[in-house]
Amino acid sequence: MKVTRQPTNPGPAAWAKILPEAARHPTLEDDRHVDFLIIGGGFAGLTAARRISELEPTATVSVVEAFRLAEGPAGRNSGFMIDLPHDLASDDYGGQAARDHQSIRHNRAAISYAADMVATLGLPQACFQKVGKINAAATDRGIAHNQGYQEHLTHLNEPFEILDDRQMHELTGITFYKQGLFTPGAVLLQPAQYIQSLGAAIVSNRVAIYENSPVMALDQVGGMWRAETAKGAISAPTVILATNGLAQAFGYYKSRVVHIYTYASMTRALSADEVQRLGGAPNWGFTPADPLGTTVRRISGIGGDRIVIRNRATYEPRLSPSERRLRGVYAQHDDSFDARFPMLKGVEMEHRWGGHLALTLNGVAGFGQLEDGLYSACLQNGLGTVKGTLHGMAIAEMCLKHPSTIVDELLAEPAPKRLPPEPISEVAATIRLKLGERAAGQEL
Ligand SMILES: Cc1cc2nc3c(=O)[nH]c(=O)nc-3n(C[C@H](O)[C@H](O)[C@H](O)COP(=O)(O)OP(=O)(O)OC[C@H]3O[C@@H](n4cnc5c(N)ncnc54)[C@H](O)[C@@H]3O)c2cc1C
Repeated sequence: MKVTRQPTNPGPAAWAKILPEAARHPTLEDDRHVDFLIIGGGFAGLTAARRISELEPTATVSVVEAFRLAEGPAGRNSGFMIDLPHDLASDDYGGQAARDHQSIRHNRAAISYAADMVATLGLPQACFQKVGKINAAATDRGIAHNQGYQEHLTHLNEPFEILDDRQMHELTGITFYKQGLFTPGAVLLQPAQYIQSLGAAIVSNRVAIYENSPVMALDQVGGMWRAETAKGAISAPTVILATNGLAQAFGYYKSRVVHIYTYASMTRALSADEVQRLGGAPNWGFTPADPLGTTVRRISGIGGDRIVIRNRATYEPRLSPSERRLRGVYAQHDDSFDARFPMLKGVEMEHRWGGHLALTLNGVAGFGQLEDGLYSACLQNGLGTVKGTLHGMAIAEMCLKHPSTIVDELLAEPAPKRLPPEPISEVAATIRLKLGERAAGQEL
């Protein structure tokens, strides 16, 4: 079967741009046979490769990635690896405690597995910092969101701390935020450094990664799967699709994927004088109290002192946000930056970009067996760094029939729900996002 679409990534992968260039993995240029083929080199694909090689050290594994590692969404995100469910504060909460407890347990298992990879494989500590995160509120509406979230955390017996405006100012140097809700379990990633160093560390005489090798066709021939790229092919009895929403391009989850793009901008490195004018701590990360508000990271270290902001989400069923749309989003980024960082007026954005996420209507993943020998660790929904890691780990365990409560629980989830036909989905999603963003007001 021909793969109908290839991924698109507007703008540069900035987190990789601020690192020294990573060593290249080869492009696939010949015909190979391996025990396990993994398509997609993001969180799910690399974690699956690592877990297979751990459970079955003699197995041969190839990961094929359409671009270079960390050029896709895995290196384009804001780097929040979050242990708590995203929608804890949703209005329809009720009777969900058991589900939330399970999700938290899964997320923590993924974070703990990632931490173990960082330690065992010797990845740089700077790319994986378990420092927690803050849900930042700039308005009464944001504070009300935090209040709801706080109630659910109390109900779930999860620890948190409320920071007042003075504490938020001390931490950040800015006076924009009125309140913060700190939870300790999240990790802040330098996502490109994490993905690149994970890729480099898992390669061995048994595990290979092929970059710039988009799979263009995937077929089952005589009990064996065969994936073709422009210059080569790999056949394997077992294939794992780790392509997130692009699983649809392989013919799966038709009408079940909400294709969303979200966007970020990163300043140039701040001068010493600008760092002093800003004040506050050198590293922090805020997710917005209002789900459609702005995510902010203050980073320092290898790529210099910078601010990274992320906001806006658009429904893109054709996986191709227009130039006009990008211009509008980036203008919003400038407004959001100026409102928060008046002392940095005139500091330009050096990088601007967008990236793809895959949601489902009922928030479940595309996890499990698709066909004989073909498995899926896709459709991560909103917390893709943690869910991708979880599903990558679990799909390896499933393929190898390794006993796992997490696999059993994931397989017990319902299938992703079918979307209404187009253009109804597009209109409904666009209106919902627009109204949500308008209501977010100053939180944007
Ligand atoms: C701006 C932005 C901010 C975000 N912030 C966060 C955040 O803070 N926290 C969080 O948890 N999530 C965040 N996300 C979402 C997160 O990045 C994704 O959900 C996550 O990367 C999904 O992991 P994955 O491994 O399933 O898929 P991906 O990372 O998308 O990896 C799949 C890979 O498959 C490759 N691929 C696709 N088709 C083919 C093919 N035919 N052949 C070969 N390779 C193919 C792609 O190139 C891609 O590299 C953010 C996303 C964006 C864009």
